[in-house]
Amino acid sequence: MNIIIFGPPGAGKGTQSNYIVSKYKLFQLSTGDILRKEMEKKSQLGMRISQLMDSGNLVSDEIVSKLVETIISNKEYKNRIVFDGYPRNLKQAKDLESLLTSHKQKINLVLNLKVNLETIKKRIIGRYICYKCGKIYNKFFNPAPKNDNCCSEKFLQKRKDDNVDVLIKRFETYKKDTEPVLNFYNELKLLKEVNGENSIDQICKEISDIMALI
Ligand code: AMP
Repeated sequence: MNIIIFGPPGAGKGTQSNYIVSKYKLFQLSTGDILRKEMEKKSQLGMRISQLMDSGNLVSDEIVSKLVETIISNKEYKNRIVFDGYPRNLKQAKDLESLLTSHKQKINLVLNLKVNLETIKKRIIGRYICYKCGKIYNKFFNPAPKNDNCCSEKFLQKRKDDNVDVLIKRFETYKKDTEPVLNFYNELKLLKEVNGENSIDQICKEISDIMALI
């Protein structure tokens, strides 16, 4: 089964993708994570990506599409992908349809995490990521466990684009470019709404209930 996790920045897409991936033995394709890894290489491409990400803009569809295709074409991940942060605009949604069709796959479910801007601000400001294992924490709602060998303080990092100014820009980009994609999936009857304001466990439960019916 291939799933898209949809929602504004800070809605909990990464957290819920981690949950779905480990529960259903799927593969998480986070375009944000792939782009951050490219940035770390400090390549020319990485520098270009960095400028766009740090200002809250989207990276070009061509770059993202190439990165996504390497995963879709890998037989190991066939029909096991959780798309986190992709597609981000209508062009990407259409690119994804053709990529999947050419690899004899399709999307089975689109989950939309609905969250308001105030909640998003708190989540983004408190967000920390363990750069060793990729787990996502929040200083206020979901702190990293004390005395954890992996996610100890020295491995916890804040994302450079997790600050209020860039967040406002990311939210505007989401409203303008990404939200219209919801109609596209609604018309394909693939869209399910999830209350992203709830606690992490409540959201996981709501998602499990929806997936049980697929
Ligand atoms: P995320 O980790 O999903 O919050 O994404 C962080 C940033 O990476 C975004 O603000 C964009 O600059 C870039 N990005 C992630 N996914 C995409 C995508 N599908 N298309 C274009 N840019 C993306």
